[in-house]
Amino acid sequence: MASSPDALTLLIDALRRLPGVGVKSAQRMAFHLLQHDRDGALGLAQALGDAVRSVRHCARCHTFTEAEVCATCLDPARERRQLCVVETPADQAAIERSGSYRGLYFVLMGRLSPLDGIGVGDIGLPQLIARVDRVDEASERREVEEIIAATSFTAEGEATAYAIAKAFEGSGVKVTRLARGVPVGSELEYVDLGTIAHALSDRR
Ligand code: ZN
Repeated sequence: MASSPDALTLLIDALRRLPGVGVKSAQRMAFHLLQHDRDGALGLAQALGDAVRSVRHCARCHTFTEAEVCATCLDPARERRQLCVVETPADQAAIERSGSYRGLYFVLMGRLSPLDGIGVGDIGLPQLIARVDRVDEASERREVEEIIAATSFTAEGEATAYAIAKAFEGSGVKVTRLARGVPVGSELEYVDLGTIAHALSDRR
């Protein structure tokens, strides 16, 4: 009878699920945790379990949250006519840090990448359309008047911005794009705050 894999092998296999982690790195992490930081390892296991059980997607903006609707979407001080579409929660955080935007967000949780088999249905575009079509109960009107496509200035980010523009063609919702000035090929997350602020104010 073949024996089942031992606990160490299972741990290394589990760590290899992380992006960018190969066998060698996974082994180093496993050995480190078991040799030097068993308390940290138990904390990590606990935090992972807790997060997986409690974190979900905001029903409106699709970002990670523990509530049905996240705090940003519920913030009454937010400008509700503008919806800034970003690829990741990290990009959203970068724009928030720039302090130059007071509207709402939609987080795609990805970007188009046909070569990797990631198409329109995989990046939250259907949810975005549903979100924009949402009608405000008080005014009985659609809240969103402008979508700011703040996807990255990579080929995939540009393709994603184009797909967003296409999806809302003729809908009456204005789609703008962050201005250049953000370096081509860059992830928003790593762009400095002043540049983000400029790209927002100069959008077209
Ligand atoms: Zn939200």
